[in-house]
Amino acid sequence: MIRVVKVLVDGATNDLTFSYSIPDGLNVVAGQRVRIPLRNRKAIGTVTAVEEIDPSSLKYSLKPIAGVVAADPFLTKGLIDLAHWIADFYVASVEAVFRTMLPKPSRGDDEKRKTEKHVLLAVPAEECNPGDFSGRLEKQGKVLEFLMEEEESVSLGRLTGELGFSRSSIKALEDKGLVKTTDKIVTRDPLGEMEYVESAALTLNDEQSVCLQQVLRSSREIQVGGKVKPILLFGVTGSGKTEVYLQAIQQTVEEGKGAIVLVPEIALTPQTADRFKQRFAKIQDEVAILHSNLSEGERHDEWRKVLDQKARIVIGARSAIFSPVANLGLIVVDEEHENSYKQDVVPRYQARDIAVVRAHLEKCPVLLGSATPSLESWQNVTSGKYELTTMAQRIDDRKLPLIRIIDMKQEARRQTSGPAILSLKLRQAIEKRLEDGEQTILFLNRRGFAKNILCPECGYVANCRHCTTTMTLHRGDDRLICHICGFSQLPPRKCPDCSSRAIVNAGFGTERVEEVLRKVFETARISRVDTDSMRRKNQLRDTLSQFRAKKIDILIGTQMIAKGLHFPNVTLVGILNADVGLHIPDFRAGERTFQLLTQVAGRAGRGELEGEVIVQTYTPHHPSIQFARHHDFEGFAEQELAMRRQFGHPPFVHIVLITVRSVHQERAEFSLKTLHARMKRDLPEDMVLTEPLPSPLVKSHDQWRYQILLKAVNARRIARHVREVMKSLTFPADVIVTIDVDPYSLG
Ligand code: ADP
Ligand code: ZN
Ligand code: ZN
Repeated sequence: MIRVVKVLVDGATNDLTFSYSIPDGLNVVAGQRVRIPLRNRKAIGTVTAVEEIDPSSLKYSLKPIAGVVAADPFLTKGLIDLAHWIADFYVASVEAVFRTMLPKPSRGDDEKRKTEKHVLLAVPAEECNPGDFSGRLEKQGKVLEFLMEEEESVSLGRLTGELGFSRSSIKALEDKGLVKTTDKIVTRDPLGEMEYVESAALTLNDEQSVCLQQVLRSSREIQVGGKVKPILLFGVTGSGKTEVYLQAIQQTVEEGKGAIVLVPEIALTPQTADRFKQRFAKIQDEVAILHSNLSEGERHDEWRKVLDQKARIVIGARSAIFSPVANLGLIVVDEEHENSYKQDVVPRYQARDIAVVRAHLEKCPVLLGSATPSLESWQNVTSGKYELTTMAQRIDDRKLPLIRIIDMKQEARRQTSGPAILSLKLRQAIEKRLEDGEQTILFLNRRGFAKNILCPECGYVANCRHCTTTMTLHRGDDRLICHICGFSQLPPRKCPDCSSRAIVNAGFGTERVEEVLRKVFETARISRVDTDSMRRKNQLRDTLSQFRAKKIDILIGTQMIAKGLHFPNVTLVGILNADVGLHIPDFRAGERTFQLLTQVAGRAGRGELEGEVIVQTYTPHHPSIQFARHHDFEGFAEQELAMRRQFGHPPFVHIVLITVRSVHQERAEFSLKTLHARMKRDLPEDMVLTEPLPSPLVKSHDQWRYQILLKAVNARRIARHVREVMKSLTFPADVIVTIDVDPYSLG
């Protein structure tokens, strides 16, 4: 018998592996990255399996692999299995999934790691006689003397910098064979400078204990071979979900296992990171934090720490689900309803769903937490796939904030000049907070666009006629411009729907809000948090800690401040334009608006003082707004799910969105028609196929887009059908076909 490795070559789109033999003396395991000869070139690939075979069964002789990229495997067995699952479900190539799983510096033909020159003795210290160096050579003697005292190598930078030795003395000693230099790997730790004070575990209240026990019971049952369900933790804002996560992780780590915590990118604020670092201050280095502000090298170092099993707890956004944690004991997905868990490039995976799959493959409990669960997860509870645990009370029985709805149509009639930014009620409420020394958060639901035209009388929104997206008003040249396709037009002088002239000058962005507030509250300390104002590194951290230290009275922000922040002195939250997100042709628009309002409202009244929320809207009777007002998630879910069921929307079906793009309109349209005809030919009975249609964004970046949707209860069956059809077709080179399983936006 000989050992053979199966290698999936980088860049392979067809999932085919090649077999190679292993040269003597080399140990190769699955998940390792290897260099291989491929026809007449050199290539790199990933070992997917190592097999023992009978050499006589071979029809040809195998070439040996040329070498390994690193001595250890980058992918664990669990991750290799997971990659196959993902490729299968999301109609992607396994290789593309592998690529997503590995940080970039590890993907080349050797692992690019930052190194530093270090100097150390080349002979035993007893054999060195610094006394031999006198006169001119005295400096060399000093270097030698210093190194004799050191147990480890010393960086060249430190020797020549801080310690003041000269490069030439070191070189001279090296020539004499007394010292040598090596390259030592340096690990960058972005939070290495920080010193964390340990935070003690809190005594859990009853609801928290029940939830923690449920997780621990799951964990025990799995260990004795039992089958367990994912746990959905439905806990209102401020109910202490994070404390439950922390204690569950603590237990996991004490059992010698690792844990992954996913948080939405937007919620991965310094505050969240600090909470974890503080609780685990004693093992601070064992906590890896992966957020988007890390440089490629820093990210790679954090990943290495996990791979080397130096870090056992990983906190990170979406892609952290692929961390090579060995002996995984728990996965937590915080704010499981968040859209940012869905990746919008290949492979288009949904990290929450992947967490559930990974937990299943690696046999560990998975806890999904949210104050506004996704309707997918809620339906999974109803159908018995998930277990539910509820935390309905805020910590210390603090009340959920009182939510008032302000009808801005009436407000607009009252205010005559300019857009109504601040209602009278909100203005008075802010004044009161300023007098009482309490803080206010003002939230602007912007969804990426700054200023759109909205009729204060009837709620009309100016949409691009090509894209069905909202147009943005550019004051400079007084035109409405579509940020997707670039189409522009003059802003209307009166509302096209109701002829109201009040439409002029409607709409505002965060900057405008800041400007207005500074005028109204002259002495207040005001700060703005959005992607424009937070470019500088650490700016967000600084602003938030100033806010925490009560050096800011009013914080204005977009989505960035909607999630996860905890400021006990905030007693007022104002939501300036609650309905912007409703004017989007998407079956999830209502769900998103409900989630956003509930989450933002959850920032108020988290301390001793009761909170108040003021919601300004042009559609006060919209169900999303009314259910949010009454803190009624279950009511919202019930009516929304009834509607989804009636219209055949997810979560009752899975959708696969197929989009064909090309700069040539006819080619895009024609290719899609061909695809559609082929799809239809042997369409399984349980699937629904829509007619080919232009995408809602029919043209974007000069590319024409056409799409079809496939719907069925069973996602894997759709995926299989799509894969078969795709295999049988070829498209012109300038036509791009994308496949999105469980899409988050329908074009
Ligand atoms: P959530 O994540 O559900 O919004 P948090 O975990 O942020 O809630 O908890 C809200 C606040 O309550 C935090 O300041 C937290 O430290 C505190 N807290 C959580 N659990 C307890 C507890 N058992 N006893 C006292 N305070 C707690
Ligand atoms: Zn457009
Ligand atoms: Zn109107």
